[in-house]
Amino acid sequence: MSAALDRAPVEPATVLVREAHLIDPRAGLDGPGDLLIRDGQIAALGEPGTLEAPEGCEVVEAQGLHAFPGFVDPHVHLRTPGQEYKEDIETGTRAAAAGGFCAILAMPNTSPVVDNASIVQSLREVAGSRARVPTGFTAAVTVGQRGEQLTEAAELAAAGAAGLTDDGLPIRSAGIMRQALQYQRLAGLTIALHEEDPTLSAGGVMHEGEVSALLGVAGIPSVSESVMVARDCDLAAYEDARIHVQHVSARTTVEIIERAKAAGVKVTAEATPHHLLLTHEAVRTLDSHKKMNPPLRSEDDRQAIIAGVRSGALDTIATDHAPHSREEKEQPFEDAPLGVTGLETAFAAVHTDLVVPGILELGVVVERMTAGGEPFGLHVPSLAEGRPADVCLVDLGAEWQVGEAGYESRSANCAFHGRTLTGRVRMTIAGGAVAFRERSFAIGAVR
Ligand SMILES: [Zn+2]
Ligand SMILES: [Zn+2]
Repeated sequence: MSAALDRAPVEPATVLVREAHLIDPRAGLDGPGDLLIRDGQIAALGEPGTLEAPEGCEVVEAQGLHAFPGFVDPHVHLRTPGQEYKEDIETGTRAAAAGGFCAILAMPNTSPVVDNASIVQSLREVAGSRARVPTGFTAAVTVGQRGEQLTEAAELAAAGAAGLTDDGLPIRSAGIMRQALQYQRLAGLTIALHEEDPTLSAGGVMHEGEVSALLGVAGIPSVSESVMVARDCDLAAYEDARIHVQHVSARTTVEIIERAKAAGVKVTAEATPHHLLLTHEAVRTLDSHKKMNPPLRSEDDRQAIIAGVRSGALDTIATDHAPHSREEKEQPFEDAPLGVTGLETAFAAVHTDLVVPGILELGVVVERMTAGGEPFGLHVPSLAEGRPADVCLVDLGAEWQVGEAGYESRSANCAFHGRTLTGRVRMTIAGGAVAFRERSFAIGAVR
């Protein structure tokens, strides 16, 4: 009864990464070295230029590259079943691999909703033949995500669901939320929460503030999020249950989570690259590629999210990768659907705007990007000997233009489309197998 991750059958990798800069923040590793991956496992770490390549081993000359533990994204919309014109398991996991992710969790707000064990099983089967990186599936908290009747948490757990969430929608009723937490404790599945009070957010299309006032469009106030987070932290404390707050967008939310953590509440939380890097100023032009829920907020909110990632109040950077078709996003701003893609740009965007200018340390960003599975009981990837090889190789100096060569994702609604970013994932090894190799990055010499 534990979260299952599925992926297509693979050939375990045997690769010697020679003279990379190895960073594994949890292991205190930060310096040049060799990394030998043998039959899909991290077999040895050594001083630069010292490890021997066994027979049949690919040798990657990685001078100038950084090797990190692979990233884990607990918040991805793969759009299947039902909306495969936006994304599917194959394209979504290809996008993940291209972004350096070695594992992802998919959201259940599909059509139909993933709210019973048989849908979980059928998704796991498809992932078992199509997924490029190990993929887990979350299931809904309530039947049809209607917020009325709880799903069968124990059956979902037995079927291998990775967690429970009604993402896309809040759980309106405090009573239902309380019951969900009681069952969650029994089934051992973490509940991830999309927090908004619909009586405050209804009709809004962007952050309620000076920009929405100027544009004359309906806003979503930041308290729409924070009042629900406060409620659910109180309920989690009362029921001694575990919650995970998705896509934190507001300073008030960060402050509530800080206080709850200090009081011992079992709460974890995520920040998205777009909330870390953009504000409602980006919506002035009514660009639908900047429309998402929760919305981009003020500079003060953004600074609080950055500080939360730095301090660890926000545990992980998660993309909320939300693909939509060109036709959908080309509608007028107020009609366009919510959400942006982000798997392929997450690390590079955060690196460019927060690490390069010295606002966040590289090690902190790597730690927050690898920690995404932990709230759901998944192991955090590590470059330690004996661990499965979950590694991404990144050229921190490489500049590239987002979307210039297209996307691995089926959709192109990236919040950073057209921007020049610094830092390019060259290779991703996920669950012991090569999942991605950048076009220019040829297969190394094979011994
Ligand atoms: Zn959401
Ligand atoms: Zn989402």
